[in-house]
Amino acid sequence: MKTERSEKLFEEAKTLLPGGVDSPVRAFKSVGGTPLFMKEGKGSRIKDEDDNEYIDYCMSWGPMILGHADEDVLKAVTDTARYGTSFGTPHRNEVELARLVIEAVPSIEKVRFVSSGTEATMSAIRLARGYTGRDRIVKLDGCYHGHADFLLVAAGSGLATFGTPDSAGVTEGNARDTLVAPYNDLNALERLIEAEKGNIAAVILEPVPCNYGLILPKEGYLRGVRELCTRHGIVLIFDEVINGFRISMGGAQEYFGVTPDLTTLGKIIGAGLPVGAYGGRADIMAMIAPEGPVYQAGTLSGNPLAMAAGIAALHKLKSINAYSLLDKKADYMNSLLSEAKDKYKGEFHIENLGSIYAFYFTDLEKIESVDQVRACNMEKFAEFHSRMLQKGIYLSPSGYEVAFLSTQHSEEDIFKTVDAVKKSLTEMFGR
Ligand SMILES: *Cc1c(COP(=O)(O)O)cnc(C)c1O
Repeated sequence: MKTERSEKLFEEAKTLLPGGVDSPVRAFKSVGGTPLFMKEGKGSRIKDEDDNEYIDYCMSWGPMILGHADEDVLKAVTDTARYGTSFGTPHRNEVELARLVIEAVPSIEKVRFVSSGTEATMSAIRLARGYTGRDRIVKLDGCYHGHADFLLVAAGSGLATFGTPDSAGVTEGNARDTLVAPYNDLNALERLIEAEKGNIAAVILEPVPCNYGLILPKEGYLRGVRELCTRHGIVLIFDEVINGFRISMGGAQEYFGVTPDLTTLGKIIGAGLPVGAYGGRADIMAMIAPEGPVYQAGTLSGNPLAMAAGIAALHKLKSINAYSLLDKKADYMNSLLSEAKDKYKGEFHIENLGSIYAFYFTDLEKIESVDQVRACNMEKFAEFHSRMLQKGIYLSPSGYEVAFLSTQHSEEDIFKTVDAVKKSLTEMFGR
C-alpha cells in the first residue's frame, strides 16, 4: 500500500494544525500509522490521495447512511447553493426539515436546529436547567455527548458520584454539577437520584451507547430510567446524535418504545453537512428564546444547505425503506461472520444492532458495561485495524468506535469485508 501523499500532507498538516487534524481520533494515535487523507467517495467506497480505494465503515462517523455523494443529496445541496448559502433569516428549508423530524421522531413536538451535536447537547442541558430551575445533571459513564465543559466529565473514583474533569481546561466548577453513574445499572442510578433528591435537572444518555464500543441496553433498562425521571421530575434527554435515523426512522426511542422529554440529533440529519438539533415536549421547548428565557442562538443555525441535505436524506430514507434494507444487509453480514465468531470465541467478539457493528478482542460473549469494553485488548484491535486497512477495508481508527453499514454497501462489499476479517484474524492468531 502506497501512502506517500498522505504522509507528505500529514507532515505539512502537523506544522499548521495541532496534531495535524481538526478532531483528535482522526490522527490514528490509537491504531498507529499515518492518517489517510481522503479525496473522494462514492457509495460505500472512499479513495485516498494515493489512489488507494477502501470499503468504508467509518462513514464520517455515522452521517453517511446513504453512502458517499448520494445523488439526491448532492442535487439538493447544489440546487440550494445556486440561490445563496446563508441569509441569517428564516428559510423555508428549516420549516420543511422540522416537519420531517417531528413526523419521524415520536417525542419531538418542536425542534431547534444548531450546527453540531455538541451544540445540541449543550443547549438541551441549558434548557433542562432553565425549565426545572435545578443545577445538577447526571450523565452515564460510557456515553459521549460532545465536548461541552460540563459533559467532559468522568466518573469519580470509588464511591464518589461527583464527576472529575476529563480534559485539561475543564474546571472543578464545571465538573461539580455533573454526576456520573454507570450505564445499564438502574440501581446505581436510582441511588444517585435518591441521594440528590430535588437537585437534578436532567439525565442525559445515549439510549444505545455507540461511542465506547457498542453497548446494548439491558431488557427494561431504558424504561426504568424513564420511570425514575418521571417520578423525580427530571428531564430525560436521549442523545440520539448517532442513534437517530440510524436504529430506525424514529431512532432508539421508537425502536425501544421509550419516550424521552428532549432528544438531541445530529450526524444523519445533515447527511454530511454540519448540523445538530434538539427537540421535544412543546412546553419545555417553549422556554427557549425568543419564546422563553433560555438563551440560545447561532449565526449559521438552520443553514439552508445543511437543511437541504437533511431534507433530501430523510425523504430518501423513507422512500427506499432504508431500515429493512439495512437489516437485510446486516443479516447477510452476520451470516458470513458467524463462522469467525465461533472459531475465535474466547478471543474475538462482535456486537451488532442493525447497521451498527463493534469488533472486540475479549473473552466475553456479551458486552453490557463500559468496564467490559475497557477490559478489551485495544492493542489487538490496532493490529486488526491495520490488517483490515491493508486489505482495503477502512474501519474507524479506534477500538472504541463502531462500524456502520450504509444502504450502498453491496453484497460483494460485505463478502469482501468478511473475507478480510477472516484473513486478518488468521494472520493474528495463526489459525
Ligand atoms: C457525535 C456525537 C456527539 C457530538 O456531535 P458533534 O457534531 O461531533 O459535535 C454528541 N453525542 C453523540 C451521541 C455523538 O455520537
